[in-house]
Amino acid sequence: MPSVHKVTSISMEKDFLAENRHLADHNHAKLRRAGIRSVDVMGSIGSGKTAMIIALAKVLKKKGIESAVIAGDVTGQDDYDRFRQAGIRAYNANTGKECHLDANLVDRTIDAMDLNGIEFVFIENVGNLVCPADFPLGTDRRMVVISVTEGDDMVRKHPMIFNGADIAVLNKIDLAKIMEVDPAILQRDYQRLRPDKELLLSSVRTGEGLEAILKAMIL
Ligand code: MG
Ligand code: ZN
Repeated sequence: MPSVHKVTSISMEKDFLAENRHLADHNHAKLRRAGIRSVDVMGSIGSGKTAMIIALAKVLKKKGIESAVIAGDVTGQDDYDRFRQAGIRAYNANTGKECHLDANLVDRTIDAMDLNGIEFVFIENVGNLVCPADFPLGTDRRMVVISVTEGDDMVRKHPMIFNGADIAVLNKIDLAKIMEVDPAILQRDYQRLRPDKELLLSSVRTGEGLEAILKAMIL
């Protein structure tokens, strides 16, 4: 079966992406009016996005900053349940069959949220390193999370998403030796792609790197 991208004409696709960007600007203005900063967390399935957001939200809470999460998934509410169990205000956003969130679904989700007392919103995108790059959601920052369990070639294989993200994180760094992955290879590839930036290293399990991520998100 041909993919949607193939049957859609290039001009229709352009309109579609332009419409998404327009709605993303609208989302950004809405969140900013409410005094809320936000980040779109992208990354493959299993890179540790959910656990990282929980850990970051807990650090923010200690600093007196309340956050809420939009849990994006194709179907189901597993991540949503994990956020709620961790005591985080969460909202489920199922895409149905789309492999990425879009600004329209985020717009409708924001409208259904109780933003009272919330200063920060995390959006967990659908696990996917490809098309989320084309669909900004209107967040202040876009962050991509990969982990050492995915191998040492992820930056080379997915330059689009790293080019489209303000922050890039290599997670599960505590497992690097066991996985026989040298973080320096990923750091070198990232530096070639984004000479002005640095691939942040993190481990949700040990807490390494979380403060540096928060700093990159909020500044
Ligand atoms: Mg998740
Ligand atoms: Zn997609």
